[in-house]
Amino acid sequence: MVNGTTTLFSPLSRGSGKDANMECPLCKCKKFYLKNPDDEYETYGFDCESGDVCFDPGIDDDDVPDLTGDSHIYCDTCTWSGKYDAIK
Ligand SMILES: [Zn+2]
Repeated sequence: MVNGTTTLFSPLSRGSGKDANMECPLCKCKKFYLKNPDDEYETYGFDCESGDVCFDPGIDDDDVPDLTGDSHIYCDTCTWSGKYDAIK
């Protein structure tokens, strides 16, 4: 018979969406911004310090574009940019 136990333990399991540690893949910073799709000079900063997306104070919720997995976001500190999915 098969000798041994089935190992379900995976020390590096990630990406389940739970216990999200959203940070920049390059610099580990938790501050990002996204651009207004209609006006690339208009940016909306947010941070993920708490594990949730918190837009900067003063940004009107109504103005913020929908943040989806496909949204293109930019690191506030380094040159990284990519899909929001990449940091979730
Ligand atoms: Zn970065």
